[in-house]
Amino acid sequence: MIELIKSNREGILQSDVRKNLGIDSKKCSRLVNKLMKKHLIRREPELAKGRNTFRLYPLTFSGPGEKHTKLLAKGRFSPCTGCTLDCAPETCYPLNEWVYAVIEEES
Ligand code: SF4
Repeated sequence: MIELIKSNREGILQSDVRKNLGIDSKKCSRLVNKLMKKHLIRREPELAKGRNTFRLYPLTFSGPGEKHTKLLAKGRFSPCTGCTLDCAPETCYPLNEWVYAVIEEES
């Protein structure tokens, strides 16, 4: 799935990903959510053929500059950087996952 999304820099509809891979929408949504949690893709809502769907875009990261290394854990940027979610740090899954990675890296 990630290779298909990466090969479409202008984005690809989630429904087209599902069709290309021959998987059902439930499995497709599960896989998309996993890739988003890993910060490998982002998605934007889109109306296509009168139906609400999402367009999926690959996220690329070319490597940290020296001043950014403190924002990295296991090569992943702090999820708060550029985050547009409604912020609830105490229950935020991406933040918790990242903090555990920082702790693991430092121990
Ligand atoms: S704590 Fe979670 S919701 Fe809040 S800014 Fe960070 S990643 Fe986003």
